[in-house]
Amino acid sequence: MEDAHSGGYRPFDVETVKAHVAGLPAVAERLGEGSAGLSAREVGDGNLNLVFIVEGPAGAVVVKQALPYVRLVGDSWPLPLSRAFFEWNALTRQAAIRPERLPQLFHFDATNALVVMEYLTPHVILRKELIAGKRFESLAGHMGTFLAETLFRTSDLSLETARKKADVALFSNNVALCAITENLVFTDAYFDAPLNRWTRPGLDKAALALRADRAVKIAAQEMLQVFTTKTEALLHGDLHTGSVMVTGDDTRVIDPEFAFYGPMGFDIGAFLANLLLAYFSQEGHEGADGERDEYGEWLLATVEAVWAIFADRFRELWRTERTGILFARSVFEDEGDGLGAEIALARFLDGLFADTAGFAGAKMIRRLVGLAHVEDMESIADETRRAACEARALAMGRELLVNRGRLSDVSAITSLARAISRQKDLP
Ligand code: ADP
Ligand code: MG
Repeated sequence: MEDAHSGGYRPFDVETVKAHVAGLPAVAERLGEGSAGLSAREVGDGNLNLVFIVEGPAGAVVVKQALPYVRLVGDSWPLPLSRAFFEWNALTRQAAIRPERLPQLFHFDATNALVVMEYLTPHVILRKELIAGKRFESLAGHMGTFLAETLFRTSDLSLETARKKADVALFSNNVALCAITENLVFTDAYFDAPLNRWTRPGLDKAALALRADRAVKIAAQEMLQVFTTKTEALLHGDLHTGSVMVTGDDTRVIDPEFAFYGPMGFDIGAFLANLLLAYFSQEGHEGADGERDEYGEWLLATVEAVWAIFADRFRELWRTERTGILFARSVFEDEGDGLGAEIALARFLDGLFADTAGFAGAKMIRRLVGLAHVEDMESIADETRRAACEARALAMGRELLVNRGRLSDVSAITSLARAISRQKDLP
């Protein structure tokens, strides 16, 4: 399983996948009797893997299979099959914490690098809904709570230290996927990396300016240092709005193949960055001037609510579930120093907020000038309009990175977003 050529692996197609899942008792039961009545289609729209929907008389499942290379680029870019193992291990840990935010999990096959899970329907990828201008009133609550619980309960604030250290060791083998992040998120945008691309010529000036911008380069490398050295909690590792599926009142998180033990702010920052990218793209989706103004305000309110709900739930967990080695109750509450625990909590959240802002900035920038872009911007057909939206998003990313330690709270982020979105004269 560790490399592409180890014994037994074969990529499935819509025919072979049916026979394979029909032979798995837990899955066959879900689908209904026999493989004859099954139908399968491949729906993977992601960058990396095969995703099949297999349907039977009684129900449907999703079969996600890793390929030994990056799907977006082709077999010239090998990528280990072991990412399916890390995805499965992350999914099972998250499911033990908040099962209702994930697809139900049915089966893992290390040899074939595949995961079988619930087919989420009528769920739609959140990013597509944000492009369409739809609102989700439970989204911030679901995501804020999911983030607080998964991050707190996999950290040294909660998890038993032997288990945490074993888990840190296990996920530290997800080297190839971490390397993608290390290069694409923190490094490539700041030099003439071969895979960089951006909207030309509209964004030329802003994109090239990054490479000469010493403050932003140092800030991005400082965030990379945090990313590689802070084994704070088990991260999803790729928590953008394409990794969240929604209905009117449900929210599910998919695709944690980038999972590893890293800084909590990376997951929170990833999600906020993608809400902000959605925000800065809205003008590009307007039929008439100002048509999406109110929707943009909803997106900013969601940014604020995700952080606020995250922080509230995190505070609650700090007060009631602090069973790990960090900030032990024996040092604070048991010594009659409840106030000390509260001060430490406030300081912890301040540091986490700065990390979150910095990671959000790095995540925004890389989606504008790096290899992998976001549909929020890519779907703006008029390139002049798109470049204008992107220039503002790029300016926002830069501010978040460079000033991450000077933002007082989340309303400073949303105020900044509003101020930048009013600037019409960016390069
Ligand atoms: P990748 O890692 O290749 O990006 P994803 O896990 O993001 O793959 O899946 C790709 C796409 O497949 C998703 O965008 C979504 O449309 C669909 N998909 C994945 N998992 C499910 C699921 N459990 N239910 C329904 N659709 C899914
Ligand atoms: Mg993926």
